[in-house]
Amino acid sequence: MPILVQKFGGTSVANAEKIRRAAGRAIEAKKRGNQVVVVASARGQQTDELIADAKEVHPNPPKRELDMLLSTGEQQTVSLLAMAIDAMGHKAISFTGAQVKIMTDDSYTKARIQSIGADVIRGKLDDGYIVIVAGFQGMEAGGNITTLGRGGSDTSAVALAAAMGADFCEIYTDVDGVYTADPRIYKKAVKMKQISYDEILELASLGAGVMHSRSIEFGKKYNVTIHVRSSMNNNEGTYITHEVPLLEGILVSGATIQKDLAKITLNSVDNKPGNAARIFEHLAAAKVVVNDIIQTEISADKANVSFTVGKSDLLTAQEAIEKIRKGVHCDSVFVRENIAEVSVVGVGMRSHYGVANMMFKALADLKINIEAITTSEIRISCLVDIKDAIKAYETVCDAFELDKTVEKRNQPK
Ligand code: ADP
Ligand code: ASP
Ligand code: MG
Repeated sequence: MPILVQKFGGTSVANAEKIRRAAGRAIEAKKRGNQVVVVASARGQQTDELIADAKEVHPNPPKRELDMLLSTGEQQTVSLLAMAIDAMGHKAISFTGAQVKIMTDDSYTKARIQSIGADVIRGKLDDGYIVIVAGFQGMEAGGNITTLGRGGSDTSAVALAAAMGADFCEIYTDVDGVYTADPRIYKKAVKMKQISYDEILELASLGAGVMHSRSIEFGKKYNVTIHVRSSMNNNEGTYITHEVPLLEGILVSGATIQKDLAKITLNSVDNKPGNAARIFEHLAAAKVVVNDIIQTEISADKANVSFTVGKSDLLTAQEAIEKIRKGVHCDSVFVRENIAEVSVVGVGMRSHYGVANMMFKALADLKINIEAITTSEIRISCLVDIKDAIKAYETVCDAFELDKTVEKRNQPK
């Protein structure tokens, strides 16, 4: 019997009615002849509320304790889902991440899955149960509960699909699929039928919150086709697979905006071999995830080093920098919090020129200043002042016709 993994996000299990609807979908999938594993997130905004609770008693909560608290949100959902399925006359059993041996490293609040023991789940599936697993959480080798970073239930689901040998993972959410841009901000965004792992990986790591980026890595590595779709209707959503030929012919397939970033600049660092390594070694030791790095030579013997981090890592990053600052003879450290990053992504950039120019021109036409630029083979990102962020995002989306389906866009020269 094929195994199907279905993941329900927070809004899709927000109340009793939605929990019953999710339960119904799992039962339908079982009736169609699948063995069904369900992964669920905390209900509604519960993770945010738990974080707020923690902050009421501690300004910077110890991360182990935070994970202990946050994992309770998902635990509530899975037991409620199992009850709802039972009430509909079908067998269901819920588990925490630790109970099904989702083992992670010990980076509390952003742990990475290292292994999953499939035997517990397989045993229950073979006994005819729908198995429901708490998303977003795992356990490190010492037995402590960890969480996988915000939005991490997607990763639990795709990693479980990979571990169980499932070919498909369905992600049920509050949008119809993956759009060319965040539909909450760029209202004219359109749904994509398909997108490649490489592109969605880039979009997700640049802030397209619809999928947790690590989930895509698992999907790509273990050939799990991911179907992102709405929990509110039966429409086809977006399929995430390997290469999608149609997208090769267009310049940009999607755009993202990230507003929760901060930029740290170390001014006038000694321009010597090994200094960059020392700075980033300290950040890595503090488990800070660094996004973009820009180093510029300002004289024969001095350089400025800038990098961006998520705002949630800012304090930790500043502490780490303080420890290395004197060692690299840095004059001063400048922190900029009111910035945003607008990015465009497309595999078509590999074979076409002029994309950067189109993006810069769109911003220039609105007199929006670009504070820093970074690129990869398939993306271009611009840092802008937060006050210009939405305007910048919209104009860039318009410039690349992200309000049109691929077939209707002008073909690049
Ligand atoms: P869930 O709780 O189901 O995991 P999320 O809030 O994590 O849902 O993800 C869905 C949200 O992602 C959408 O409501 C949308 O605002 C946002 N989003 C950002 N970028 C995109 C995009 N390119 N396509 C679709 N949704 C996006
Ligand atoms: N509940 C977690 C969060 O809000 C995980 C998830 O939703 O995927 O980040
Ligand atoms: Mg999510």
